[in-house]
Amino acid sequence: MIPATLWQRRDGLPPVRHHDAHIEIGRPLAIGEGVLLLRLPLPFALNHINVYLLEEADGWTVVDCGLDTAAAREIWESVLRSAILGRRPVRQIVVTHHHPDHIGLAGWLATRCRAPVRMTAGELTVAGRYADPKRDVVAERTPLWHEHGLPRPLAAELLDRMPRYAVQVHPLPERVDPIDTGRVLRLGGRIWHPIVRRGHAPEHLSLLSDDGLLMIGGDQVLPKITPNIAVWPGGDADPLRSYLRSLASFEAIDEKTLLLPSHKQPLWGVASRVEEIRAHHEDRLDAVMTVCTEPMTGYDLLTSLFGRPLRHEEVGFGLGEAIAHLNFLESEGLMRSELGPDGRRRFARLGDGSPS
Ligand SMILES: [Zn+2]
Repeated sequence: MIPATLWQRRDGLPPVRHHDAHIEIGRPLAIGEGVLLLRLPLPFALNHINVYLLEEADGWTVVDCGLDTAAAREIWESVLRSAILGRRPVRQIVVTHHHPDHIGLAGWLATRCRAPVRMTAGELTVAGRYADPKRDVVAERTPLWHEHGLPRPLAAELLDRMPRYAVQVHPLPERVDPIDTGRVLRLGGRIWHPIVRRGHAPEHLSLLSDDGLLMIGGDQVLPKITPNIAVWPGGDADPLRSYLRSLASFEAIDEKTLLLPSHKQPLWGVASRVEEIRAHHEDRLDAVMTVCTEPMTGYDLLTSLFGRPLRHEEVGFGLGEAIAHLNFLESEGLMRSELGPDGRRRFARLGDGSPS
C-alpha cells in the first residue's frame, strides 16, 4: 500500500558482512590503516558509541567524542596518555552531528587538547539552540506531545525525567569552525568526501574516503538498528521523506567500502543495509496503515508502530518517530489528520488500505 517509487528494491546485492573485530569499551582498536575505533560507554539501552581517531603526521583527528560522563572522560584521559596514540596530540575534532553522544565531549576535548572543533553549520545552529541556557527544549516539546496524544501525567513525567542537553553536552568553544561541505576534507592522510544528509539530523556529516575503502557513517546508516527519525519542534516536519531520500547516496556505496558506524560493528555491504532499512520503514508504515482504520493519535499507534509497548524513557523518541511516519503517510495522501476540540490530532487512513 506504500507507493513503490520510494522502495525501488534491488535484488542480487551482496549481503551485509559484519566485521568480526572484538571491540571492547575503552580500548582503541586499529580498524584500518591509520584509523582507530574507540568505543565509549553510554548510560542507555544502547550502551556504547564508536568514535574514530585518524592518524595525522603530527597527531590525531578525532571524529565524534562521546557523551559527557565521568566514565567517558576517564577513558579519554587514559587513551590520550596511551602508547597507541604515541602520546601525540589531538589536532582537531570533527563532529558528525549535534546529538549528545557525538558532540558531548567535543568542548571538553577541545579545551583539554587545545584543538579546534569542526562541524557543519546546520548542526552547529541546532547545538547552539539546544544548549541555550535561556531555553528548555524539552519543555518546548510539550505542545507537540499534547497534540499527538501523550497523556498529561506521562508528559509531566517525561518533562521531569528527560535529561537536558546541557547535562550531557559540555559547552562548545566560543569559536567552532564550520565545515565547507562543498569541498573535500583532508584528514588522517586521506581525502574524504563529505556526504551531508537530512532525516536523522539537519546537516548530518558522513565521510567517504577518496579510495572508496572507508566510510565514517555517523548515525546515517547503522547496522542492526535504524537511526531515530523523528519530528521535533522547529525541525523538519517530514524527516522520514528526507531520510529515505538521503539513502540514495548510500545505496551507491561499493561493496568493498568498510562502513565505520557510530554504533555496533563495522560492515561491508552498505547498499544491502540500505535495502534492509528501507524494508524496515516500509513494514512500519504498513503496520500503521493496517491498524489505523479509525481516527487515532500518534500515541495510540506507538505499540503498533514498534511492535511492543515502549518503556517510559523511550516514549519521547518513539512519539517523535510515530509523528514522522504519520506525517509521511499524510503527505503521500494515504492518511488524513484532524485537530479535535481537545487539541489532539487524530489520523485515519484514506480508503481501505489495500494495495493500489
Ligand atoms: Zn544521532
